[in-house]
Amino acid sequence: TQRLLNMSGWVMFQVTSLFENIGTVQNGMETISHPHTVIDAAQAADLVVTRGEIRFEDVQFGYGDSGRPALNGINLTIAPGEKIGLVGPSGAGKSTLVNLFLRLYDLTGGRILIDGQDIATVTQETLRSHIGMVTQDTSLLHRSIRDNIGYARPGASDAEIMEAAARAHAASFIPALVDSKGRAGLEAHVGERGVKLSGGQRQRVAIARVLLKNAPMLVLDEATSALDSEVEAAIQDSLIDLMEGKTVIAIAHRLSTIARMDRLVVMDGGRIVEVGTHSELTAAGGLYARLWARQTGGFIAEDVAVKSLELS
Ligand code: ADP
Ligand code: MG
Repeated sequence: TQRLLNMSGWVMFQVTSLFENIGTVQNGMETISHPHTVIDAAQAADLVVTRGEIRFEDVQFGYGDSGRPALNGINLTIAPGEKIGLVGPSGAGKSTLVNLFLRLYDLTGGRILIDGQDIATVTQETLRSHIGMVTQDTSLLHRSIRDNIGYARPGASDAEIMEAAARAHAASFIPALVDSKGRAGLEAHVGERGVKLSGGQRQRVAIARVLLKNAPMLVLDEATSALDSEVEAAIQDSLIDLMEGKTVIAIAHRLSTIARMDRLVVMDGGRIVEVGTHSELTAAGGLYARLWARQTGGFIAEDVAVKSLELS
């Protein structure tokens, strides 16, 4: 059943991401291309992560035959433990890059390597078991809070689950949850007939899950929804804790996130157009500097008081 739970989590993730894509595509009034099923190679090996280096080598990708490739000639090496922020206008290819790293689609050209292993040659199960994810609009399973936090780590004890919840700043609200059947705390079920969590609460449950999973690589696509500032500060704290010692690819929406990334990778039209730190890129006067200026109204502040601004 643990495996089934894992699977349903992944199916749910894929469905969510499909909906996101449909949203994007309809906005662009293009044809919807469904992801084809990615199949493990016949001799697929287990992924072995020793350092957590991620390398994109001349990655090409197009959705179906819509003509223009969504990604074109992506070359990027992310060092073990490095934290990368992906920045760029809507449609630049940020979500596509992350989806390819998760192998939701196969490439049309090039390779993605993790510690030297081509992700197309390893099992999807071992690939995804090494990647933690906190995405926008995290969907939770219609199950107990315990299952929602614990499903990535079979056999986790309640103490371990509550420790992860505490680190994710979720321990303050979990004990008070009661669903319509009277199940409380970790037993409370989430979803239509269960407790309704706020966006900030859902995000903290998702962070607790990823903290417990303790995978060496992380993908973050932070919610940009308006959270009250106290909750946002708690989530930022939890994210800093979560990123410690991991290799991170974050789609950077908030200035506070961007400021603490080791490098920013700026994308436009399916290509990487700039790479550098926030100060290097603001000084360079390119696309990032323009996006930044637009978001901040031309005001460039080093201590980021305007942290709720979004860049994409
Ligand atoms: P970003 O995340 O930077 O906003 P995306 O990676 O979502 O950009 O999109 C990159 C390009 O790929 C855009 O032109 C978008 O319209 C297209 N695209 C994204 N998802 C799909 C899909 N499922 N089918 C067809 N085209 C898609
Ligand atoms: Mg996107």
